[in-house]
Amino acid sequence: MTAHLAPVAREALLPTARTWLEKPPLEPFIDGSFRSARSDEQLPVVDPGSGLTVSEFAAASAQDVQDAVAAARTAFDDGRWSELDPEVRERKLHRVADLLEADAETVAQLEALDTGKTLAETRMDVDEAVAVLRYYAGWASKAEGSVLPAPRQYAATGSREPLGVCAAITPWNYPLPILMYKLAPALALGNTFVAKPSEQTVLSTAYFAQLCAAAGIPDGVVNVVPGAGSTGAALTAATGVDKIAFTGSTRTGQAVMRAAAGTLTRVSLELGGKSPQVVFADADLDAAVEGVMVGIWTNAGQVCVAGSRLVVDRRIHDDFVSAVLSRTGELRLGHGLSPHTTLGPLISRAQRDRVAGLVDQAAAEGAEVRTVGELPGGEGFFVAPTVVTGARPGQTVEQEEVFGPVLTVLPFDDEDEALRLANGTPYGLASAVWTKDVSRVHRFSRGLRAGTVWVNTYGVFHPTLPFGGVKASGFGRELGSAAVDHYTELKTTVIGL
Ligand code: NDP
Repeated sequence: MTAHLAPVAREALLPTARTWLEKPPLEPFIDGSFRSARSDEQLPVVDPGSGLTVSEFAAASAQDVQDAVAAARTAFDDGRWSELDPEVRERKLHRVADLLEADAETVAQLEALDTGKTLAETRMDVDEAVAVLRYYAGWASKAEGSVLPAPRQYAATGSREPLGVCAAITPWNYPLPILMYKLAPALALGNTFVAKPSEQTVLSTAYFAQLCAAAGIPDGVVNVVPGAGSTGAALTAATGVDKIAFTGSTRTGQAVMRAAAGTLTRVSLELGGKSPQVVFADADLDAAVEGVMVGIWTNAGQVCVAGSRLVVDRRIHDDFVSAVLSRTGELRLGHGLSPHTTLGPLISRAQRDRVAGLVDQAAAEGAEVRTVGELPGGEGFFVAPTVVTGARPGQTVEQEEVFGPVLTVLPFDDEDEALRLANGTPYGLASAVWTKDVSRVHRFSRGLRAGTVWVNTYGVFHPTLPFGGVKASGFGRELGSAAVDHYTELKTTVIGL
């Protein structure tokens, strides 16, 4: 099909990106190749920066999902992947990383078009995906077992074995990095994989699947089933899946967990948050302003660890908010593929309307709402950066994950109140504290109920650093050595002497 592109996209896209966009509709990737979906349903690929439909893909039916799981099951059971020498798996994963690096600009462009993110952001996404892939490639040959203490008449070992078929349901905000948090450890440790990308962002996952085939990953080891409405549920209900890793909303995470109970499939859930950034008056305030900027405006606030609640010492509240507003005024809203853009649109019309609704509600409930900057013309799904002050603790805007460029500010009078406010939501994904007081750093970090605490910095991710939540933010850790436990089974072998 011919892609209907906004002028900025027409100008920016590399021929390789355009060719991918204009290939016949993307199909499910099953058993090593794209194959015709068993349904006739075509879904649009929408450019959030222009509202235009730029391509389409064929939605996987429940039967396609079952085929993908069966392909992954066969590939696991016959040992074509799990029984390779670990060094061979390691080399093949590095080869996938090489191919992704070679196509980095094409993938970054496709991702910017599909997600609305700025090109600077999607380039970082591709870099992160490559880094995570290489980190776990190394684990293929380095995941060790143990010799277990046992009574003298026995020798006992604990060995790591792959789980089998791992499935992932991944979101639209970081399609490639979050896919890699799940796929890279799964494959490195000998599992096979079925990915269900968000229907809003299928391009990079499909592109990645064909790189796996080109790199010599055996057929059936990596499968992709794009779809909407029932594809995710079909995957969680499928027999033959040993683990499901989900990133998305708490409500859908609960549905995934309920479905997994029926098949006794293990789950890990990363479910977003309402992360506080706590700024004390003694902090390096310029650095803290920059941390707040990164925390809330990155990817237009559509980030599970968005620092969407600024909890700030009342004595510096007004000056600090003014400084944030002033820096925010330097952002340029626009299409992700424009080199001038520093803040892109939201993913969809529905998401934009949801965010706008939450902002209107905050104003109606008495909070002061300030928006900054010019909305671009056209049909893109833009929301201007918004700072909400004067909200009551407990008000929807300071409790609910907005998933848009909306920062809510809450003042505090002392450390106890700061901690109460910081912990005062159902979520517990990330948090930050800004202070120069070393004792307070330790005291406060200890009190924060969150999977990650950043001190005098924000949003630091690295393949070695475990990441995940507590409370309504889910459970299980991705990244680092922690993920190795989630993608292997520990086998105890006891030998009578
Ligand atoms: P959801 O969390 O609702 O997830 C949607 C994905 O889950 C789709 O792939 C969908 O596929 C699948 N799904 C839906 N129902 C089920 C089910 N019963 N079993 C298995 N899979 C299912 O995200 P939305 O895109 O709807 O976003 C809603 C909100 O979620 C956002 O506003 C934001 O607050 C939060 N979110 C958080 C993210 C994070 O990083 N933690 C990322 C994205 C969103 P299908 O329709 O085919 O079933």
